[in-house]
Amino acid sequence: MVKGSFIKKLKKLLGEEGISTNIEDLLCYSFDATQKEYMPQVAAFPQDTHQVQEILQLAWEEEVPVIPRGAGSGFTGGSLPVKGGMVVSTERFDRILEIDERNLTALVEPGVVTAKLQQAVESLGLFYPPDPASMEFCTIGGNVAENAGGPRAVKYGVTRDYILSIEAVLMGGEVITTGRKVVKDVVGYDLTRLLVGSEGTLAFFTKILLRLLPLPPATGTLLALFSSREQAGEALAAVIHSRILPTAMEFVDRGALEAVRKYAGIEIDPQAQAVLLIEVDGDKDTVPLLLRRIAEVCELVGGTTQVARDRTEAQELWQARRAISPSLVHVAPTKINEDIVVPRSQLPQALARIETLEDKYSLPIICFGHAGDGNIHVNIMTDKGNPEKWSKAQEAVKEVFAITVELGGTLSGEHGVGITKAPYLSMELSSQVMELFKGIKGSFDPKNLLNPGKMGLE
Ligand SMILES: Cc1cc2nc3c(=O)[nH]c(=O)nc-3n(C[C@H](O)[C@H](O)[C@H](O)COP(=O)(O)OP(=O)(O)OC[C@H]3O[C@@H](n4cnc5c(N)ncnc54)[C@H](O)[C@@H]3O)c2cc1C
Repeated sequence: MVKGSFIKKLKKLLGEEGISTNIEDLLCYSFDATQKEYMPQVAAFPQDTHQVQEILQLAWEEEVPVIPRGAGSGFTGGSLPVKGGMVVSTERFDRILEIDERNLTALVEPGVVTAKLQQAVESLGLFYPPDPASMEFCTIGGNVAENAGGPRAVKYGVTRDYILSIEAVLMGGEVITTGRKVVKDVVGYDLTRLLVGSEGTLAFFTKILLRLLPLPPATGTLLALFSSREQAGEALAAVIHSRILPTAMEFVDRGALEAVRKYAGIEIDPQAQAVLLIEVDGDKDTVPLLLRRIAEVCELVGGTTQVARDRTEAQELWQARRAISPSLVHVAPTKINEDIVVPRSQLPQALARIETLEDKYSLPIICFGHAGDGNIHVNIMTDKGNPEKWSKAQEAVKEVFAITVELGGTLSGEHGVGITKAPYLSMELSSQVMELFKGIKGSFDPKNLLNPGKMGLE
């Protein structure tokens, strides 16, 4: 419970503009992309490390839960104040502090919007590869806390692969810095990697040092259309086997194609039952050769291909992929979006087994996603207001996870655990591993005040 005296002290630290207890404001911090709602008692808007230190020390002394929050676009409830308390938003803590062209690094505050950073570095001929579909609004702090990924993960990896150093404040107000501005660093435990993906439960990030790459000079895009899901799966395996590593290789199934045709008005060959959208990058001479080789491989398994002639055509091809999420809203009142990952070689089997669940549970199950790295978004289309459909959907989710784990996969490749995946953790993690997690949480935050109630840690 947050006392009036706490609010007064907070106001003294951050000023009138630095906090809010207005119900209208608090509502904005009560939900994320899970559509679940929990009200905080106060929202705080620090602008620098010192302010974060002061408010975390105060919260520690008065035992008030602290919930770090970026843009609130998370899919597993990570930024929700499930136990009430103080939401600490990074919306005013959002400067790009340095782009170091000699060391290929960028130093940023946690509230920097991902796309803004990408534009800033690209204007200098540099490249920050992680590209979550939410990049126009999500923050680097949120990306680090969730270890976000995107289509380019096939070739370039995920957020974790680009974090060199983190400055963070612990509950209690102590500041720590993990890592350094160096390419190699093997001194002690790798706390940087531990903090990445910690979902706001261990420390509050205040500065993040990112690794950059040179911007590839050219990119090329190809759409491959197939008459079945299996054929697309075969093509995917064949491309990987042909020793070509695309930048992105996105899979779209029949259900998603139908939704895009019907609700986004995008024309896609009606014969196509599944498509792969493939992007490659490299120097100007290599890109056309790679595209030709990929087209040959896809055609060999029975697909037809279409290569974008320029940037505009490439954007048109990507438009169909981007239209999927908004189109699915019309398919059913509630969408449960799971982001499972299986070893790439198991993808055709995973897709085939998940397809059988549509009949078993009489619910549409639509699959699309970053298949090039084995990450598939399985969307179980249901209706929260219909108890029978809702309970069937819950059973279907459990079975999707069971199939995933049986095939050597993991319950989440992007969205993390938060509150929504916590009930299923024991399907993947042993009790010993969970005890280690709880020990780590206890040594960072012994009073369990930082983002409590998440990741199955209680
Ligand atoms: C339309 C849409 C598309 C999406 N596409 C993708 C995708 O392609 N790939 C993907 O990985 N995700 C995707 N997401 C999920 C989401 O955008 C990511 O998880 C993103 O990283 C969350 O960033 P955020 O700024 O919104 O963080 P929030 O949702 O506000 O918070 C997420 C977590 O980060 C913690 N956190 C935030 N800031 C800090 C900080 N400074 N210090 C410590 N912890 C902090 C919070 O406590 C919380 O646990 C998508 C979401 C939407 C709505």
